[in-house]
Amino acid sequence: MKFVRDNISRLAGYVPGEQPQAGKFIKLNTNENPYPPSAKVVEAIQVAAEKLVRYPDPVSTAFRLAAGEALNVDPEWIICGNGSDDILTILTRSFVDQGDLIRLPNPSYILYRTLAEIQGANYQEVNFNDDWSLPESFSAADVGLKLVFLPNPNSPTGSVVSQEAILDLAERLPCPILIDEAYVDFADFNCIELVKQNSKIMVSRTLSKSYGLAGLRFGFLVAQPTIIQQLLKVKDSYNCDALSIAGATAAISDQQWLQENVAKIKSTRQLMQEKLTQLGFDIIPSQANFVWCTHPTAQVKSIYEYLKENRILVRYMSYPNWEEGLRISVGTDEQINACLSLIQSKV
Ligand SMILES: *Cc1c(COP(=O)(O)O)cnc(C)c1O
Repeated sequence: MKFVRDNISRLAGYVPGEQPQAGKFIKLNTNENPYPPSAKVVEAIQVAAEKLVRYPDPVSTAFRLAAGEALNVDPEWIICGNGSDDILTILTRSFVDQGDLIRLPNPSYILYRTLAEIQGANYQEVNFNDDWSLPESFSAADVGLKLVFLPNPNSPTGSVVSQEAILDLAERLPCPILIDEAYVDFADFNCIELVKQNSKIMVSRTLSKSYGLAGLRFGFLVAQPTIIQQLLKVKDSYNCDALSIAGATAAISDQQWLQENVAKIKSTRQLMQEKLTQLGFDIIPSQANFVWCTHPTAQVKSIYEYLKENRILVRYMSYPNWEEGLRISVGTDEQINACLSLIQSKV
């Protein structure tokens, strides 16, 4: 197609995990929550649905006030997006020019590469150390480096980099670093306080995983106000719709629902990790709502296919310079037991 920019023609395009639109599957492939969201979310959306004749609040004020309270941050430090993927796009467009460099760890979230490619920028992948810490080179001041992405907890590994290491990284880096906290509600700590300590540190969050609202499309960024003011110029004017603002505001205001949900997921995660280990898998202890597992002898790809034939979807992944494995989202106890008994018959 001769009319489009060269980098777009060359682009393979990001392929999200399978979202079957028909048939009944147990979905353990895209880290959605297995439980329905807080009932308050549905009520709030119904109320908002009566007022769709008006444009939404362009800066999601109600959400920022509620999130500010829940997370102990000033609302001026928050910008909202149509999912946190929108936040990642806004950051790339704001900080990275054609020919500039984006750094990310390997293995990690594949969308970061696609964002660099669309922008006409280069990306550099730095392998984790064997203990899932980051090597010195992750903080190197390379020419053209304009943005660093670090999912924490990481996907697909579920591993974390410590707060001390992140602060140290930010001090050395010549550019901003995004800590992508899509899974942080399932982890032991988060990095919001670090945003206050170093203006290069930014934290993104999503309502898609821990709040059970992947279909709503709502995410946000916490950063110092001087950064937020610039990003507001780049985002689409009405990037969050009235229904999602209402639903997300109700969700973040119901922290009790969140705590109960997270407790259930963590207990199933523990059970999953024990059973996968018993079945001979190597797992990485997870701080997220999924478990990465590899097997010394069994063919993980055929396990993935066998599960799919039996209407259970997990994510099979194979990374360059790394290994192949399965990323299995934490479902309900019942879903996980069904999945593990099928796996048991294949190993
Ligand atoms: C799921 C995920 C996101 C995207 O979340 P949305 O808010 O649904 O766009 C961002 N980063 C990572 C690492 C994720 O796994």
